[in-house]
Amino acid sequence: MPENCIFCQIVAGDIPSKTVYEDDSVFAFLDVNPLAPGHTLVIPKHHYETLADLPEDAATDLFSALHRLTPVVEDAVAADASNVAFNNGEASGQEVPHVHGHIIPRFDDDGGNPIHAIAGRTPDLSDEELDEIAADIRDAR
Ligand code: 5GP
Ligand code: ZN
Repeated sequence: MPENCIFCQIVAGDIPSKTVYEDDSVFAFLDVNPLAPGHTLVIPKHHYETLADLPEDAATDLFSALHRLTPVVEDAVAADASNVAFNNGEASGQEVPHVHGHIIPRFDDDGGNPIHAIAGRTPDLSDEELDEIAADIRDAR
């Protein structure tokens, strides 16, 4: 594990955390700077920087834990909904370079924004450009 990774140190128990879930592959704990009560981070125990670095089995375990924990987190804080999201890479705002999914409980009239508010300048793409992008993604899979 990278010695200076905060999340690896949390998994190892070297930095305390408010742990909410742990299995062989996944660790989940409350965000130290919560955007809402119950704001939870779900991480692979092994160190991978971005989603693309995750092997398939670790990705499956991670999503499975997110899937199971999200309604539990919502219920624990009587939330009306949640945003579940990854900052994936530095340009997206990822500050801790160890993959982590955020579960952010949301409440009616909490004054927050939907995930659509993330983008800075939004592009004005023609139908042809959309076709081209879709084809590039399809062909690269
Ligand atoms: P990012 O911007 O990388 O997606 O989010 C990193 C998150 O980790 C932030 O929401 C931040 O509050 C949280 N965080 C950073 N350091 C610690 C820590 O030492 N303990 C806990 N529990 N959360 C942390
Ligand atoms: Zn790490």
